[in-house]
Amino acid sequence: MDFSLTDEERAIRDTARQFITREVMPLEQEALLRERRHEPGLDRSELRELQQKAKKFGFWGLSTPEEYGGMDLPAVLQSLIWTEVGRTFVQFKFGGEADNILYYANEQQKQEFLIPTIEGDRISCFAITEPGAGSDAANIKLSARQDGDDWILNGEKTFITNGNDADFVIVVAVTDKEKGVRGGGTTAFLVDREMGWRSEFIQTMGEGGPASLIFDDVRVPARNILGEIGQGFELGMKWIGKGRYLIPSNALGIAERSLGMAIEYANTRETFGRKIGENQAIQWMIADSEVELEAARWLILRAAWTVDQGEDPRHASSMAKLYGAQMVNNVVDRVMQIHGGMGYTRELPIERWYRQVRLMRIYEGTDEMQRLIISRDLLRGYTKIGGHLA
Ligand SMILES: Cc1cc2nc3c(=O)[nH]c(=O)nc-3n(C[C@H](O)[C@H](O)[C@H](O)COP(=O)(O)OP(=O)(O)OC[C@H]3O[C@@H](n4cnc5c(N)ncnc54)[C@H](O)[C@@H]3O)c2cc1C
Repeated sequence: MDFSLTDEERAIRDTARQFITREVMPLEQEALLRERRHEPGLDRSELRELQQKAKKFGFWGLSTPEEYGGMDLPAVLQSLIWTEVGRTFVQFKFGGEADNILYYANEQQKQEFLIPTIEGDRISCFAITEPGAGSDAANIKLSARQDGDDWILNGEKTFITNGNDADFVIVVAVTDKEKGVRGGGTTAFLVDREMGWRSEFIQTMGEGGPASLIFDDVRVPARNILGEIGQGFELGMKWIGKGRYLIPSNALGIAERSLGMAIEYANTRETFGRKIGENQAIQWMIADSEVELEAARWLILRAAWTVDQGEDPRHASSMAKLYGAQMVNNVVDRVMQIHGGMGYTRELPIERWYRQVRLMRIYEGTDEMQRLIISRDLLRGYTKIGGHLA
């Protein structure tokens, strides 16, 4: 059994680390100040500029097929890079990416939506959640009624990331009530903001904020249907599935960086005439964090590896998402404890991480939903205890 990285994996991971350290981390103090003024840490043009710089380092379109100018990296490498990105709290991501389900677009839609999104000229958002349908996504009600060559959309989506900034939304709507959501009764639409949906900012404990999207008789031409009529829910689940190993990969970077800060603090801060790191209480917090971090790492890499094997990653990804999200919450909490009062201040980014990582246990499938998937797979015999090694 070989747990080491290949030379290529190590080289790409190290270059990503260098880029984040040299180009993004120096922006952290300014980003913190701006966020305190309720401004974005990086504005759209600054993000694009950084992404273009990263492109020169070779980082462009981590998951994007080569025919669209991307790197088309294996999932393991994507995971390693997302971990590096997680090490900074500046809201940065490498450019050249588009939602995985936009590749279901036809040729004309690719020109209109996919390629401008990859190029960074347009911003997308994805909307399935509604006020009455979160974990129970099959309960969505936003309706699309056919009217000649058009469809008329009515209803509300909520908690939509990028919903305030997006130029267009990929929205899943009920097109056939009789068939039901799981029976082919939903369809995904590509809807430009100019077509008439509006967004309302939602205040959260995190930076930025998602939005509610309101559709009030929004007329959408049939040429804006993404994929097939009836394929909406299936596409929605594909969109959600992608993030299930990338979110915890990001969490790993946050845990690594913040634990590093705690170790440094434990080695310098003195109380009662000695370093706090000489106390067993502090040592145990560091030890527990390291163990959980390492356990999460292998669950995450195994999930990514499962993707690369072309196998169904659902079970492995759910374990990675559940454990990775809990791990980072535990670690950041301990990191704050080790920093004492300083950890609670806004002089350090720990309180920011504390607020940020809480979301990881909620979005793209709550802890409870991951547990539901994992246990159901076992109870129904879809997966064996021990997975690949069983
Ligand atoms: C900041 C943010 C960004 C988001 N971005 C997007 C986005 O871009 N697009 C999008 O479509 N959605 C997005 N979401 C929505 C997110 O995916 C949902 O919030 C999430 O799926 C949970 O749904 P809910 O909030 O309705 O909670 P609910 O489904 O109402 O659940 C409430 C609680 O009950 C638990 N629960 C529910 N059912 C069960 C059960 N059967 N057994 C045990 N426990 C259960 C849940 O785990 C949770 O703890 C975002 C949410 C947030 C907060």
